[in-house]
Amino acid sequence: MDIRTTPSSGVLPTEAATLPAPGQVVCFTVADLLAFVTRAERLLLRNRALLDRLDAELGDGDHGENMSAGFIDATRALAGADDADDIGDLLRRFGHLLVAGAGGAGGSLYGTAFIEAGIAVAGMSQLDAPAMARALAAAADGVARRGRCRLGDKTIYDALRPAADAFSVGVEGGQGLQTALIAAIRAARGGMHATRPLIARRGLAMRLGERSRGHLDPGAMSCFLLMRALLASGRRAR
Ligand SMILES: [Mg+2]
Repeated sequence: MDIRTTPSSGVLPTEAATLPAPGQVVCFTVADLLAFVTRAERLLLRNRALLDRLDAELGDGDHGENMSAGFIDATRALAGADDADDIGDLLRRFGHLLVAGAGGAGGSLYGTAFIEAGIAVAGMSQLDAPAMARALAAAADGVARRGRCRLGDKTIYDALRPAADAFSVGVEGGQGLQTALIAAIRAARGGMHATRPLIARRGLAMRLGERSRGHLDPGAMSCFLLMRALLASGRRAR
C-alpha cells in the first residue's frame, strides 16, 4: 500500500487540509516577535562583514555595522518586555529605538518600517496571517514614503515590496503563515538579486551612476535576512 494514501489516525482528508502540520508557523505572539528581533540581531551580526563589504562597493561601508549595533541596542532596550501584550506597541517602540540608535539610511528606513508595521497591528496580542499581511504592507509603504523610493531604485524597498506583496497574495489565496512567509522570502531574495544590474537612484550609491551597476544593494540583502529571521521565529503547531 502506498504510504501517502494511508489515512492517519482518523483525521479526515478535508479536516487534515485545514489543520496546520506540526512545525508549521501558526501565529506570532509578543514572545515570538521578541525572538524575531533577537534572531535578526544574531543574523545581522553574523553577516556584518558581508553587509559592510556590499555597502563599501556602493556607499560608505557601514551598513552591517549600523544594523548590528542598532539591533543589539534596540533588542537590549526591549529585554523584559515579554510581559507586554500589545504587539503594535512593541513594534513601534522597536522602530523608534532603531531610528535613534542605528546609523545611516538603514536606521531611519527600518525604524520607519517597524513603526508603521506596529501602527497597522495596534492593540493586537497575536498576529495571524492577515494581520502579518497588513504589517508587512505597512512596513513597505513606510519605507517608500520615508525613503521616497520606488521599485528599481536599488534600495531596501526592492526586497521588501515584493516580499510584502507575495505574502499578501498568498494569504488572499488562502495560504497560511508558513507558506506565505516562504513565498515572501523567495520574493525578497529575488528582489535582492534583481538589484545587482540596477543603477542606484537613491542614497550615497547615486553618485556612482553607471558604476553602481553590478553590485547588490546592501539594504535589500539585510531585508532578505530579516525575512528569513521572521519565518524562523513564528509560533509553531505541535
Ligand atoms: Mg552606509
